Amino acid sequence: MALARGYRYVEHWGMAGGATARVLYPRSVEELRAIFAEARAGGVPLTLRGSGNSYGDASTGSRGHVIESSRFDRMLGFDPATGIAEVEPGVTVRDLWRHTLPHGWWPRVVSGTSFPTLAGIAAANIHGKNNFAVGTVGDAILEFDLLAADGTLHTCSRTREPELFHAAIGGFGLLGAFTRLRLQTKHVHSGELEVATFAGKNLRELMGYVAAHTGDADYLVGWIDCFARGDGLGRGQIHHGRCLKEGEDARPHETLTVAHQELSPMLFGLFPKSELWRVMRFVNRDRGMRAINGLRYWQGRLEGLLPPRRWTHVEFSFLLDSVPNWKWSYGRRPGHGLVQFQPFVPQESAHALLSEILRRSEARGFVSYLGVLKRHRPDPFWLTHALDGWSLALDYKVTPATRAALFAFLRELAELVLAAGGRFYFAKDSVLPSGVLARMFPRERLEAFFALKRALDPHGVLESDLWRRVAPDELALDQRPVPSSP
Ligand SMILES: Cc1cc2nc3c(=O)[nH]c(=O)nc-3n(C[C@H](O)[C@H](O)[C@H](O)COP(=O)(O)OP(=O)(O)OC[C@H]3O[C@@H](n4cnc5c(N)ncnc54)[C@H](O)[C@@H]3O)c2cc1C
Repeated sequence: MALARGYRYVEHWGMAGGATARVLYPRSVEELRAIFAEARAGGVPLTLRGSGNSYGDASTGSRGHVIESSRFDRMLGFDPATGIAEVEPGVTVRDLWRHTLPHGWWPRVVSGTSFPTLAGIAAANIHGKNNFAVGTVGDAILEFDLLAADGTLHTCSRTREPELFHAAIGGFGLLGAFTRLRLQTKHVHSGELEVATFAGKNLRELMGYVAAHTGDADYLVGWIDCFARGDGLGRGQIHHGRCLKEGEDARPHETLTVAHQELSPMLFGLFPKSELWRVMRFVNRDRGMRAINGLRYWQGRLEGLLPPRRWTHVEFSFLLDSVPNWKWSYGRRPGHGLVQFQPFVPQESAHALLSEILRRSEARGFVSYLGVLKRHRPDPFWLTHALDGWSLALDYKVTPATRAALFAFLRELAELVLAAGGRFYFAKDSVLPSGVLARMFPRERLEAFFALKRALDPHGVLESDLWRRVAPDELALDQRPVPSSP
């Protein structure tokens, strides 16, 4: 069968940017190898893409072709005795849990949406609501095959090519393409978890609650009302999730089924959730979102008075998926959308810095409509965003009128974070300037990463818009012409 290809508009998930590109859909290592050879010969840059769930430009490439893994998506194996899964790169988190949960296994680390591919989450080294306890997804990956842009195939693990293992996870598709991944899932005794809500009157109370419960919770995530100010600055609620122990679920054979996990497509059995974004458009402005955030806070206070309740894994993990295409409420016209800004801040300065970010956002009239607080821990991956500290993910509305001022403001906030030794997560970024890598990572580590890049991709075939934005200056990559011959 001929390789599928075609032109289309390839967009940032947050819709605030994108570019029309030729998109190729390889289904095998051989097809991918042929694409790489053609690109080397023709001097065409390539950008790897999974499901395009990165908020910004991590998987768009406006200079060349985009290689999407949506058709390279077979489940290669799953052992119900060990919970080890083996997949092709385009298998999604949704595909994975649907395969493993009926056997009593759940992916160890998931993002807030189930649509990303396994290659995409490995390349971004995603974290979940349990990052403080189990690390990032890289910590659950046992082995992978990576096809480098020079056509060589590398099988990597913690003992086999360990440098490449730790560089490619979190390497944002610059060293090569994952073509096979083996990962460990987590044994669960039920398809449900017990979730308690704690409402905190300000950021200090929320952080205090999380700090007190990292030892007894499986998951902790905070939702912050970014409109609150004064004594209530950073108020919100924490969802505290605990996996059920054996015997706590009286009907595990039922709760572990896919059918039990499926989110209802209807709201109160009456209104299709797929149409909700149209209604949400009317509140998607400061006044409406202030009211919604306020309501959510008071709902949290009420829930906090009630005993913990049981949620399915899907409901708890992928809450954002419950309203299909909710992002469209940010506007569907060109130049409209949202960007996410997610600073990762060291433990010592976290409270002061996150409070300052909330305060400045309020004062400058750029208030985030959704704020998500998480606790993190360090991991061994070379370009990881995770550290011993906290992150606050903030969604900002973008319109053509506010774009320039908003981006300038977010860069100003980034300066505060970088000066305090903080980091950023490139799957969520749209604004950081070039030179930022050298401020986030030790020089030796960056040099080692670039030595690998030069060795595996000597023609500089693999790139992305993100990469050309953040890396070039200090490493002079953007000075190189696109190669015209192999
Ligand atoms: C609503 C929402 C909630 C989210 N919640 C979280 C969260 O809780 N935690 C979190 O960490 N992230 C979260 N994310 C971000 C998301 O998990 C990451 O952006 C993830 O990388 C998306 O996977 P994808 O398959 O869509 O990859 P893409 O966005 O398409 O690509 C991501 C990166 O992977 C690279 N890549 C793609 N395919 C390959 C390949 N075969 N080999 C090598 N590299 C490749 C791309 O070049 C790119 O750099 C969220 C995103 C959304 C939209």
